[in-house]
Amino acid sequence: MRIIICCLMQKFSKISVFETIPHSRRIRAISGMENKYDEITNRILAELDKGVVPWRKPWTSRTAVNAVSEKPYRGINSLLLGMAGYDDHRWLTFKQAHDLNGQVRRGEKGTAIVFWQFIEHEGDDDEQKRSIPLARAYTVFNVQQCERLVVSEGGKLPDLEPISASMDASALEAARNLLEGYPDAPKVLPCSHAAYAPARDVVLMPSASAFNSKAGYTATLAHELVHSTGHNKRLNRPGVVGLIQFASQDYSFEELLGELGACFLCAEIGVANDIQNSASYIEGWRQRLSTDSRLIVRAASQAQKAADWVLGRAQE
Ligand SMILES: [Zn+2]
Repeated sequence: MRIIICCLMQKFSKISVFETIPHSRRIRAISGMENKYDEITNRILAELDKGVVPWRKPWTSRTAVNAVSEKPYRGINSLLLGMAGYDDHRWLTFKQAHDLNGQVRRGEKGTAIVFWQFIEHEGDDDEQKRSIPLARAYTVFNVQQCERLVVSEGGKLPDLEPISASMDASALEAARNLLEGYPDAPKVLPCSHAAYAPARDVVLMPSASAFNSKAGYTATLAHELVHSTGHNKRLNRPGVVGLIQFASQDYSFEELLGELGACFLCAEIGVANDIQNSASYIEGWRQRLSTDSRLIVRAASQAQKAADWVLGRAQE
């Protein structure tokens, strides 16, 4: 039986295909689109250099939303805003702050996010017609960087309601709710290690008592559920349905997707991801991201789709 055994990125530093890339040879800006991928990847690499894994947060956090539309930011933008380090999860543009009769405080620095638009390129014949992705950068500010924000009804932007700390009991309840809300969820069977087995469509999980915390159990379950969305009856991802080899590109893409998807799910259900980051885990990802500037953006986009699927939002 072929299974996806997780957390093997910890061993990547021992595998020769991922050679250490000196900092001086880091991804260089080329132009346009490539420039955006490089910029984002370098921001993630800077965090990993500090020993911080942006997709693992040992505290409870929420999904970043626009303060005006209340729409959540998705994919890579959700990750970039989540790692900016603010307690408040609401963000807005300079103009939106102005429209709310407020302003961004003097000296505050915005956070760059990016949206991709697809522009149709007309050619002489059908074959030459193609859609070209165009990256548009936006700068947003956290509401904590602004002052005097007034909502349309004339009142102050409401203070953020405190989120309850991730109590162990509520983390287990969140895990149960996650499974119950997952349409056609795979079975979860007890095992000594965490894995997803596509052939039987089952998630294997150690018992909650085997983890340092219930939140760690829930974050691991979320990671495995994200893998399970790759089954051919769901999102049909090559990293799950194909015959992938350990340490291959498909394997590490699917593994990063599992990590980012778990990060998005944990933010949605209000559970911390307090799985410890070993030095070799961090180094494995640092090397992998250094060699492929598109990896994090692509994985974040697919991870968002996977998280939406688990949350039963695939049709939205
Ligand atoms: Zn995994």
